Amino acid sequence: MKNIVLFGPPGCGKGTQSNLLVQKFLLKHIATGDMLRVHLNKETSLGMEAKSYIKQGALVPDKLVITMLENEVKQNLGVAGFLFDGFPRTIAQAVSLDALLDNIGFPINFAILLEVDHNELIKRIVQRGKGSGRADDTDPEVVKSRLITYEENTLPLKEYYTKQNKCFVLNGIGAIDEIFGKICKIIT
Ligand code: AMP
Repeated sequence: MKNIVLFGPPGCGKGTQSNLLVQKFLLKHIATGDMLRVHLNKETSLGMEAKSYIKQGALVPDKLVITMLENEVKQNLGVAGFLFDGFPRTIAQAVSLDALLDNIGFPINFAILLEVDHNELIKRIVQRGKGSGRADDTDPEVVKSRLITYEENTLPLKEYYTKQNKCFVLNGIGAIDEIFGKICKIIT
């Protein structure tokens, strides 16, 4: 089993690269943002609880996201590996994920960070918002909050995974194929 965490600020290209990676390595893609949006659209109780946080560009509380993630992993134990996209986003989530995967005997193999500077991120998010209609991509104040939330809560994962010798940092600016090639090189 190959387990990969792909992390980085909103707009860094996690989603694009994840889609390519899951196809090539036949991994189970777990994207917590996508899962939460499904809950929002279906107006489930989790979706209702998560709504205000997502709207403001804040993180959904760890407890809710960790439970959702754990259920998804437990329901897919037969897969070749997991590609975690947008999870973990806090140290508490990373610790829970480690505990869960240690329990099943398949820890994280690689944590790949895609770094992109602020100006480029804002350009990309605004562009994405035009097509996706995602409310959290179209409101500049919400985009700003998401970037601050990333710096404060998620960026510390760089140190967390570096201490475990699992962190690989890549420049997220460049051709999609080129970046994909670099990720594949790390994994294989
Ligand atoms: P994303 O599609 O990954 O950009 O996520 C969209 C929004 O969903 C984020 O801005 C958060 O409000 C929420 N979200 C997604 N994943 C997580 C997570 N692992 N922890 C907390 N909130 C999350």
